[in-house]
Amino acid sequence: MEVNCEGCAGCCLDWRSLAPDDGAHGHERRGRYRPLDDVDNLAPLSSDEVRAFLDAGYAAAMVARLFRIDDGPSVSVGGVEVAAVRGRPAFLVGLRKIPKPVAPFDADPAWLPSCVFLDPETLQCRIHGDGIYPETCATYPGDNLALDAETECERVERVHGGERLVDGDPPADAEPVIGPGAIGARVFAHPDADRIAEAVERLAAGDATRADHAEFVGVAAASTPGRLSVDDGRYERARDRALEAESWIDGATAEWVDRVASGEPADPTTAENVEADRGAPETPGWEG
Ligand code: SF4
Repeated sequence: MEVNCEGCAGCCLDWRSLAPDDGAHGHERRGRYRPLDDVDNLAPLSSDEVRAFLDAGYAAAMVARLFRIDDGPSVSVGGVEVAAVRGRPAFLVGLRKIPKPVAPFDADPAWLPSCVFLDPETLQCRIHGDGIYPETCATYPGDNLALDAETECERVERVHGGERLVDGDPPADAEPVIGPGAIGARVFAHPDADRIAEAVERLAAGDATRADHAEFVGVAAASTPGRLSVDDGRYERARDRALEAESWIDGATAEWVDRVASGEPADPTTAENVEADRGAPETPGWEG
């Protein structure tokens, strides 16, 4: 795949606010499954990847996503009807988005929900090429092309011009990461609806806490591909690790949120102080 990513990062951002009139935006909310949360472009993780992020101390990078469903199996959890697999609430774990000062597509700097690993200054991924770089990011946009679904690259071209998708042919080995057999591998099922009733209410209200996400991260880490069963011991250890882990992401997130709340103008160069000085991996930039 040949893509022109410089100055873009459209697939790592929720940039709906930069294109409020684009009818094709909000694509994640038009199918049968509609996320409870209101964040665009979630990068979902596999069970193996959830465990790898826990090993790296990056629990703060992960969030849970549950779905409403119009016409399909569902279960009521905390007063919210959510999509279910054999009566169990179904969910994904993906990479968290937090407000960051970014200037994609030659736009003026703005606070946009951005992947925790996106370097606001270079608009490059801080874990690209790292052992924990998620498969869903490595294979994007090939999977969409293989499914004949519009890519974020094409959306950016349509709204902001330029050429992003240089070669539109999917790689021969493109294989959608969410497909048959995804249960327990990328789509998880929570074994105890009562345990997540309050968390689901908060997820639907956009108020989910670190502990709420840790509950789902624990179940995802203790899941096995092709099965609905969850290993209790592995779940408890993973949930505890998710609650206890600390990394540069925790402090950086708190500071970005404070800066937005205090009305600070968006300035991508502040990433050096907020993220790099806390230990975030540097990105190479586009020179050379
Ligand atoms: S991990 Fe990297 S490539 Fe994937 S969404 Fe986050 S910033 Fe983008």
